[in-house]
Amino acid sequence: MSLLRLTFLGTSAAQPTIHRNLSGIAVKADTDLLLFDCGEGSQRQMIRFGTGFSVDAVFFSHFHADHYLGIIGFIRTLGMGGRSEPLVLYGPPPAKRLLRQAVLLGVDTLPFQLDILELQHGGSVRRNGYTVGAIQVDHRVSALAYVLQEDERPGRFNLEKARSLFVREGPDFGRLQRGESVVASTGQTIQPADVLGPSRPGRRIVISGDTRPCATVIAAARDADLLIHESTFSDDEQERALETRHSTAREAGRVAKEAGARRVILTHLSSRHDPDPSKLLKEAREEYSGQIEVAYDGLTIELPLRD
Ligand SMILES: [Zn+2]
Ligand SMILES: [Zn+2]
Repeated sequence: MSLLRLTFLGTSAAQPTIHRNLSGIAVKADTDLLLFDCGEGSQRQMIRFGTGFSVDAVFFSHFHADHYLGIIGFIRTLGMGGRSEPLVLYGPPPAKRLLRQAVLLGVDTLPFQLDILELQHGGSVRRNGYTVGAIQVDHRVSALAYVLQEDERPGRFNLEKARSLFVREGPDFGRLQRGESVVASTGQTIQPADVLGPSRPGRRIVISGDTRPCATVIAAARDADLLIHESTFSDDEQERALETRHSTAREAGRVAKEAGARRVILTHLSSRHDPDPSKLLKEAREEYSGQIEVAYDGLTIELPLRD
């Protein structure tokens, strides 16, 4: 995988505001397009921000209305657009019951194959070049955070070493880089490990969904390239955060600090903090000194490869 690009479709908690739509993140992982949550209005945001509609899979964090009602209209649009490729929806229980109802609302059949699969803590979905893992978090209903983990990449190719071993220049270099052995012009068999450096770690993104600060998220976000953490409230709404099983910005900052995440983006803001989220950012920064920002609708970032 080389391209890993995220687009925030919606960054508001509970209800949309003038500037912020309900939850949704589009992730382009090479040719795959994934959605993480699909709040009402997500399809229009996909048009606005140019993500395209060729979604392969949708991962729902939980089934509060602000995180999944957008799937109803989106599937209608895909059907009218003549989609034929299958689509998979993932989420914690009761994903099967709820999503089945949602996608069939007002229609008898869908014009394309749609599968609904439930994930539990520790479950994961293997895709081309990466996995998406599910971890249990602490919210009012059964809820998951997701961990997108890119596979390890082969180590650097040592050109001089390859030449000194008389590997034929050209396609054999590529074969070694892909993990195949080749026969050098001397007749000797050359293994990839002979010419490649140590393998390089893949990128990791953790998306918290709705949750109180949570040990499972801290563990998953250890040294992560990017932690996307909900940040619904500020310090003076701490009581509300406890009641509703959400996090304050400060708590999100603490999670990031404990995990040692390399970069943090705060999202899922209470409408009180639209359009000025500076208070949230300030409180989170008092806990976490790394690269941190507050998401806005349309924020798009590409995560560089790790070296
Ligand atoms: Zn929510
Ligand atoms: Zn929720």
